[in-house]
Amino acid sequence: MAIGVTKTLTSFTGKVGRCEKDHVVEILSGGYGFCAECASEIDAYHTLYVAPEGFETPGAPTPGDYEV
Ligand SMILES: [Zn+2]
Repeated sequence: MAIGVTKTLTSFTGKVGRCEKDHVVEILSGGYGFCAECASEIDAYHTLYVAPEGFETPGAPTPGDYEV
């Protein structure tokens, strides 16, 4: 099995972001997203996407969300 590349999604909203070709990619429960559109266009496409910094733990409070 080939080892894929891991990239960071752009325009991340907390659940979905954009891959390098601007497709919508959803982060799955495992913490990774996979772009099915790129995979169908590119042979042996193995790139996984992760949420940008600050979004690694979906559902958890993010510093800056709350002002006391
Ligand atoms: Zn894509």
